[in-house]
Amino acid sequence: MENPKSAFSEWYTEITTKAKLCDMRYNVKGFVVFMPNSVTTMKRMYSVYEQELERNAHKPVWLPALIPESNFTKEGEHVKGFVPEVFWVTEAGGNKLEERLAMRPTSETAIYQMFSLWVQGKADLPLKTYHSAQVWRYETKATRPFIRSREFHWIETHCAFASEKDARRQVKEDMKTTERVIHGQFGIPFIFFERPQWDKFPGADYTFAADTLMPDGRILQLPSTHILSEKFSKAFEINYLNEKGERAGCRTTCYGPAISRIYAALISAHGDDKGLVFPFDLASTQIAIVPIIRKEGGEAVLSYCKKLYKKLSKKYRTVLDASQNTPGFKFNEWEMLGTPVRLEIGGREVEKGEVTIARRDTGAKETIALAQLKKKISQIRREILPLLRSRADNSFNSKIYAASSLEELGEKLKSGGFVKIPFCTMQKEGEACAEKIKEQFSANVRGSRFGKKEKTEGNCIVCGKKAKAVVYAARQY
Ligand SMILES: [Zn+2]
Repeated sequence: MENPKSAFSEWYTEITTKAKLCDMRYNVKGFVVFMPNSVTTMKRMYSVYEQELERNAHKPVWLPALIPESNFTKEGEHVKGFVPEVFWVTEAGGNKLEERLAMRPTSETAIYQMFSLWVQGKADLPLKTYHSAQVWRYETKATRPFIRSREFHWIETHCAFASEKDARRQVKEDMKTTERVIHGQFGIPFIFFERPQWDKFPGADYTFAADTLMPDGRILQLPSTHILSEKFSKAFEINYLNEKGERAGCRTTCYGPAISRIYAALISAHGDDKGLVFPFDLASTQIAIVPIIRKEGGEAVLSYCKKLYKKLSKKYRTVLDASQNTPGFKFNEWEMLGTPVRLEIGGREVEKGEVTIARRDTGAKETIALAQLKKKISQIRREILPLLRSRADNSFNSKIYAASSLEELGEKLKSGGFVKIPFCTMQKEGEACAEKIKEQFSANVRGSRFGKKEKTEGNCIVCGKKAKAVVYAARQY
């Protein structure tokens, strides 16, 4: 297997197939079947995320998959942004429907219909919900499993507040959630950007989005959080009776961590030339027991392994690999699948009451007494995540550059990563300069770094006007 750092694209294609993460043979274009090796991990990822959201007082809802066209067209910007990607249901039971129904590409226009009923007085606010589900978008860009497909799995939160101040507070909470989960629990580094005014979520006043870097230096957008335009709550009549007895409009926010895409970032951030590498808690198989059977003593080895399996599988996702393959083949296979701990049991281990334990993250291997195994596994479990996170952080931080001319920007973009540049403005008027960068270098202006004041000096490297912003440009997935 090629090193992911030098030939990432090939590595990614090979690993998704070889590790059976998904099956691409499904006969609707742009749709794949997600397989147990990835789904087991993604279910854990969902659960970590949902716990964090509930800790912050979001309540779960399950929303319908279909949205009537009349809901969908209520907010002009939103409909303009999404219509080119919508799958429409036009018939049911053999009859043409009176009104087309959209397969939800995102659920604002489904839940806002209900928010207008649920929000009456100030006591109903803040209203904080989340929804774990699939959405469908007719992507015209090349699809790639987990990175971009026409159906993806995500969580969307939808909230309503009495004021913009509360909405802003929510957006900050969403960023903290992203940090705690994606960086803290999954070990994936990212930067939060405020997107320029010309690149917002359709219908949003402000969009903030987390971008990570893939090993080839191209960015992958992770969750974004948005303060939506008041036009939304006006169109859906989401309002409440204020102290003066008047109806006041709500401000709404939404946040969308796409689990299947974060999974793509997870395997890419931690994978190496032997295959996948996972934090212990996220691995689909956490411990693989490999019996090493020579000509004699096979039964004793196997029964020793079975006893171990019985004990470990109570607590961990464990597999006893008793297949006919050679031990060497099995070692490679479990390494390729990213199993954090591998136990090797041969005649010597059985005789001495020992176990040989190999770690996927460091490759370290040692033989210990059986009595120490429980403690050793707990120790490895604790150590893996911080190690993977700091490796990923180091690689990420080494790919942030700066440029002070167009020429230099082009040069720096060649090695991949973010390039910081002085830029005229994040307002609508800056779009022409961003377009030029896109045409010339196929790179996007991602916006300015959120929460970090960066000193603006000099002039926009495209138009030469005085720079009012420091923005980051990068090539994108
Ligand atoms: Zn400019």
